[in-house]
Amino acid sequence: MNPLLALIARGTRRPFRIYYDEAFRLPITGVESGPRAMETRRADDVLHYLRHVHAVRPGAVVSPEPASYSALGRVHTQAYLESLMSPTELAHIFAVDPSDVYVDEVLRSVRLGVGGTIEAAVYSLAKRKPAVNLFGGFHHAAPDRGAGFCALNDIAVAVSEVRARGFTGRIGVIDLDFHPPDGTAACLEKDEATWIGSISGADWGPLPRVDETLLPQGTRDDGYLRALEKLLGRMPECELCFVLAGADVLTGDRLGQFALSLPGVRERELMVARKLGSMPQVWLPAGGYSSHAWKVFAGVGMTLAFDSDEPVPTDYDPLAARFSRISRSIPSQSLGDDEILSDADLAETLGQPRVGPPKLLDFYTSEGMEFGLERYRVMPLLRRLGFLNVHVAIDQVAEYDRARVLGTDALTGVESALIELECDKRVLGEQTFLFINWLTLRNPRAHFSDLRPQLPGQEVPGLGLAREMMQILTLMSVRVKLAGIAFRPSWFHMAYTARHGSRFIDAKRQGRFEALVRDARKMSLLESTRAIADGRVTLNGDAYQWEADEMVRWNDSANIPQDRDAVAAERERCHFEFKET
Ligand SMILES: [Zn+2]
Repeated sequence: MNPLLALIARGTRRPFRIYYDEAFRLPITGVESGPRAMETRRADDVLHYLRHVHAVRPGAVVSPEPASYSALGRVHTQAYLESLMSPTELAHIFAVDPSDVYVDEVLRSVRLGVGGTIEAAVYSLAKRKPAVNLFGGFHHAAPDRGAGFCALNDIAVAVSEVRARGFTGRIGVIDLDFHPPDGTAACLEKDEATWIGSISGADWGPLPRVDETLLPQGTRDDGYLRALEKLLGRMPECELCFVLAGADVLTGDRLGQFALSLPGVRERELMVARKLGSMPQVWLPAGGYSSHAWKVFAGVGMTLAFDSDEPVPTDYDPLAARFSRISRSIPSQSLGDDEILSDADLAETLGQPRVGPPKLLDFYTSEGMEFGLERYRVMPLLRRLGFLNVHVAIDQVAEYDRARVLGTDALTGVESALIELECDKRVLGEQTFLFINWLTLRNPRAHFSDLRPQLPGQEVPGLGLAREMMQILTLMSVRVKLAGIAFRPSWFHMAYTARHGSRFIDAKRQGRFEALVRDARKMSLLESTRAIADGRVTLNGDAYQWEADEMVRWNDSANIPQDRDAVAAERERCHFEFKET
């Protein structure tokens, strides 16, 4: 039996409450592509995983109310709150271009996050059970300024809220994010009945009333856990505690350098949870900028529910798992498939021109695609990016079926295509694939900038939905019983982004691509794709031009060719060199 299921069967799952809202996903398309790229799907990923392992009881997930401006006004100055109404201020905080900020929805996300921390604190005090908020720990926000992805200080606002309700007990804040709690320290400076303990890897100067432990970069598990033990030993008696379980302590993080392992970070959570025991406690995710960051906070749920050090499986893809589950819940008829032969199909079989609504891949109607994209929550996200009347149009362009998702910019009233797909069914080798001739995801409002550089072939910045769309196209190919998806990457960065799960169908082509990835590994993706597009690359001494051959992603791994030797031989034969501009 799965060890987790065994824990549940023994009835050892402990109750805790989770605050979550779909709008915890920040509606900023550029936040993932900049130099300080941040994963916006973390709350969705964590919640999906905790449900998957049955760590969450039914009814334990609560959607919070956004924090009111009167609650925010107890901590933040009016002038600062007013400044947040401008895209410039929010863009500065989230390290994106102002054209990428649709103020109302970004503020709604942040206020919902603060509301989650407030409600978690109130609940935990009342019920004496742990509570978790999947979007919070904004510890760099001070009374009169925001910074480092933190616009409003949810911890300080929650402290002032419970104080306003008459709670006078001592409140602890254990801040285990890689970065120092500068904003929280500034906000709580005058509340003598608070204690802030922190372990940081960066020295940002003195922090008033913070028990701060500064550790060097590359500290690793043992040194970190020893410091944590000492910090917890110095912690005074408290009646409520906030824990910032920052994931930027993890090895491979772009902004944090402690290089802790996932088991090491789980040990951290277990130590803190055991120290707090039955004390009312609120756990917050804070920072985390690696692809594994979501696993840290999933680990918090595992800690609270099971007191377990059971790891999150390394290859578990929460987006793929979530979308597969959604796909299974959608009946084919609701996507446009006719269960029985329709009049339109009948006319076609009789040799008459097809009547009725146009279909993508002889299957999906525009209504059906709209229904599907709503279920995958793509349509709501497009609306939150500030597009009105978002809808799907299906037609034919040359020999391809075309589906476009159109929307009207809420600020300018101009309608444009946000997603455009051209595809057909194509036989490659002995199998038929969903062939993507063209796929573009466009945010017509966003501008390129140093924070969001233009990639070759890009006309406007993207929507930050490439992973979702690849998953949806894969599931579409499964539904219409094709072998997988196929496409011709016009640029190196497209092949690079698709390289996990997809490969060039031809063994030698795949070998050359792997050699190129190997030889470009010391450069950024932007540098390497530009060098290749500009013709500044040689292959074994000769000028090299990008080869846009077919890449495929098979739905059944049994179909993947067994040609690793041929791939490896070509990879070893090929050596690429990049010339400076
Ligand atoms: Zn941080």
